[in-house]
Amino acid sequence: MPAHDVLIIGAGLAGQRAALAAAQQGASVGIMSKVHPVRSHSVAAAGGINAAISVDDDWRSHAYDTVKGSDFLGDQDAIEVMCSEAPQEVLELEHMGVTFHRNDRGEMDLRAFGGASMKRTAYVADITGQAMLHVLYEQLMKHHETVERFEEWFTTSLLVNDEGECAGVIARDVRSGRMEVFTAKNVILACGGAGQAYKPTTNGLIVTGDGIAMAYRVGAPLMDMEMVQYHPTCLVETGILITEGARGEGAHLLNANGERFMEKSAPNKMELASRDVVSRAEQIEINEGRGVGPNGSGIFLDVTVVPRKRTLEALREIVNLGRDFAGVDITREPIMIRPGQHYIMGGVKTDVDGRTPIDGLYAAGEVACVSVHGGNRLGANSLLDTLIFGRRSGEHAAARAATMGPPKLDTGSYLRRDEATLEAIISRPRDGRRVSEIKDELGETMNKHAAVFRDEQGLRGALETVGRLKEEAAGAWIDDRGTVFNQDVLGALELGYMVDCAEATVVAAIERKESRGAQFRTDYPERNDEEWLKHIDISLGESGPEVSYSPVTITQWQPEERKY
Ligand SMILES: Cc1cc2nc3c(=O)[nH]c(=O)nc-3n(C[C@H](O)[C@H](O)[C@H](O)COP(=O)(O)OP(=O)(O)OC[C@H]3O[C@@H](n4cnc5c(N)ncnc54)[C@H](O)[C@@H]3O)c2cc1C
Repeated sequence: MPAHDVLIIGAGLAGQRAALAAAQQGASVGIMSKVHPVRSHSVAAAGGINAAISVDDDWRSHAYDTVKGSDFLGDQDAIEVMCSEAPQEVLELEHMGVTFHRNDRGEMDLRAFGGASMKRTAYVADITGQAMLHVLYEQLMKHHETVERFEEWFTTSLLVNDEGECAGVIARDVRSGRMEVFTAKNVILACGGAGQAYKPTTNGLIVTGDGIAMAYRVGAPLMDMEMVQYHPTCLVETGILITEGARGEGAHLLNANGERFMEKSAPNKMELASRDVVSRAEQIEINEGRGVGPNGSGIFLDVTVVPRKRTLEALREIVNLGRDFAGVDITREPIMIRPGQHYIMGGVKTDVDGRTPIDGLYAAGEVACVSVHGGNRLGANSLLDTLIFGRRSGEHAAARAATMGPPKLDTGSYLRRDEATLEAIISRPRDGRRVSEIKDELGETMNKHAAVFRDEQGLRGALETVGRLKEEAAGAWIDDRGTVFNQDVLGALELGYMVDCAEATVVAAIERKESRGAQFRTDYPERNDEEWLKHIDISLGESGPEVSYSPVTITQWQPEERKY
């Protein structure tokens, strides 16, 4: 039975950064991932990472932009931590070997990004996440004596002992189907977001909310779950992301009349207003009949205004994506895009050291809600979030481990419980619905009713559908009855996690009777600070999700009207 001081579930940027920090503190570390670590969704991050590195920048300006971007729902103490520690963190990664783009003077180059008051985004062409993830993976190999990697192991549940402490997990070796108990003094969840609960989404197939649901099921509260980010530039059919870096380099958004419609809603920042603002403006053009394409369901992103040489150098991945997935050469003609699900601001509620209310259970990265993004995340702030809070969680968990003995746990009963759950799924009769059908209906429901615009009626309908899908998911059947690489059975578990996340999102969206950040309620179109300047927390009660509130921490920036 493997035992560690710190066991990390997830090997994207948050998980790997946490592992490195914990190992550097001398802890014994286990890091587990259901896919090979460098296939984590972090690898897809394109545009870059924010830090006030420039000599004429100041972290307070970055913090203010983040607070404003969050529509004043972000906790300002956490935002101060993230932004003040950002420059050092990015430089440290560069020293580890991330080849950030440099300008003609040899300094780290910075590109413009949405909602930022100056150029503040460091980047490696448009493969920033990949560059960072590979460098961190090399660093972990250097620590092979203290960091044990469990690649292609799937965590099925978290273990909480009689003292109420998280003391390990149950996991399945994907290759063989063998299940094992992993005990740990501390567990850090770094399982990423839940984008696959939507269809389409920019998120990889593995982004299924596992960590959020596993924490919720053992009693950890979720926060800001109603806040789901729609990215303004996704390919119309597939939802594939065209990085904000394109607009950062100067690309325009045009409606069917060839107008730069952002003039109406964000005359100063135009295409570089925050994502919630741009996505809403696009959806209004589409809804009011000024969209482009066959059913007027798209908007043109015009990258031809960026010098071709620069596009080929700094945006080469999206040149390939445009060609391969839309048949468009973006250096010569505009490409059709629309808003698409991209990121969830909500997640497992934590403090600035990644601690959840359950002792020994931490969360960092997209799975967590610190909350630094509040109602809307600024582009290039997520990679930063993964590193800062990944590192802080790793350090804190290692320090906690040093003060305690091995955790108490009756391991056998938990193992048998999860083994039985998987066996039951594998042997289900084929008379219900297939996992894939339920997943599609879930994604389409969420994309229709819990999207850019929402209202009570649509959300109530979505809640009913999600409730039905939850029951159907509990009896859904699969084809593969084997043990070796049985992704089918894992897909059934993932469906259960996604349904939990979707339910929490819809419940919170119904609860918040105002419009703020990514939540725009057509039936409550104004922001209402008097009643709703507070977080919505969702906990699992006897009969389902229970709502409570927690205050927003305000340090230096009082809420004001948000204009771009
Ligand atoms: C296409 C795209 C482009 C983006 N571009 C940017 C950008 O330019 N800048 C920016 O700041 N942000 C960007 N983002 C957002 C950012 O990339 C993510 O929020 C961030 O990388 C999430 O990192 P993470 O470490 O939290 O999780 P992930 O990278 O998603 O990793 C999750 C890990 O958890 C593991 N895992 C999950 N469930 C289980 C389980 N049950 N058992 C075992 N392991 C499990 C997975 O295997 C994986 O290793 C982008 C996102 C997308 C989708």
